[in-house]
Amino acid sequence: AYGAQRHRREQFERGFDQLATEPAVTQDGTRVHLLTNLELADTDELAQTDAQGADGVGLYRTEYAYLASDALPAEDDLFDIHRAILASAQGRPVTFRTVDLGGEKVLPLLDVTHNVEGIENVRGVRLCLRYPRVWEAQLRALWRACAYGEARVMFPMVPGVAEFRAAKHAVHAARDQLQREGIPCADELEIGAMIELPSAVTVADLLAEEADFLSIGTNDLIPYSLGLDRAYMDRTMVSEPYHPGILRAILRVAEEGQRHGAPVTVCGEMAGDPFYVLPLIAMGVRSLSMSAASIPQIKRVVRSTTVNEAKDVLGRLLDLPTAEAVDYELHRHMLEHYAHLLVSHVAEVDSVGPDGY
Ligand code: PEP
Ligand code: MG
Repeated sequence: AYGAQRHRREQFERGFDQLATEPAVTQDGTRVHLLTNLELADTDELAQTDAQGADGVGLYRTEYAYLASDALPAEDDLFDIHRAILASAQGRPVTFRTVDLGGEKVLPLLDVTHNVEGIENVRGVRLCLRYPRVWEAQLRALWRACAYGEARVMFPMVPGVAEFRAAKHAVHAARDQLQREGIPCADELEIGAMIELPSAVTVADLLAEEADFLSIGTNDLIPYSLGLDRAYMDRTMVSEPYHPGILRAILRVAEEGQRHGAPVTVCGEMAGDPFYVLPLIAMGVRSLSMSAASIPQIKRVVRSTTVNEAKDVLGRLLDLPTAEAVDYELHRHMLEHYAHLLVSHVAEVDSVGPDGY
């Protein structure tokens, strides 16, 4: 059975190489940028990014340099890592996400945070603002590296405008310091806010005004919005991403982004879910960042749809009251029109249930 499944997958993946050189454009000419998420940024990941013809890196999770070390990483080491990623991107844009530690990711290595009461209660940009030593070297390294390529920077877990402004201030202070020291660095950087918290959705209009761009992190937005534990959600998923509360939250951010001229990317796992492509295109999202392996399938769906079809689908979904109803309607539409493009249907059809999914 596995042999047969592998054969179907190989058949399905035939043509992916050629697809890598084709742009992700809808049937009616709308360009969608398909980017990758990098975690280790090792040679494998960078090669995959290239092989799949990604338009750039939409999320580089910089904390891996911290997790791999038993001390806060040094500025020169971070500079080397960041510059190497920009070099491998060969002119394509790379979005660096400043270090996202905290919550379950506070490690003893962070001597600065060790034994500090309450440290486990702060995360992401809040942690960096409270304990500036955590990202001081990173901010300097970023400015230095960014002189070597097309780079942007964004902050994780931004709760609202005050934290975003404070973080921007820290970024600019790092550049001013480098310039005073006569160390070569970039002059300007686009600075974005990740939308991963319900409060950030609520003030999306204000953040869109302050930020050069927004990036929606659905991996955190979903559990924080729905009162779920992220580890539990990663194991079970079920219909949670299709919850009307999540659909409307993303729509709100997409609309505010357009209203205030801040382009919106979706960079959580949802961006690589072929069932979600049409709703996101309909909302006006033109940039999706995912693991490189998801790009061919998402590109096939983008290249087969039109903005009008996507808007029809979204219009129907927005009238539905429950996650299960949205899930059902979306799957019904996709299986009716796109089953031949979905790896879950074509290559793994053995595991498809009686209802077709
Ligand atoms: C997210 O939360 O969706 C995201 C992209 O960030 P991370 O998965 O690194 O928390
Ligand atoms: Mg996150």
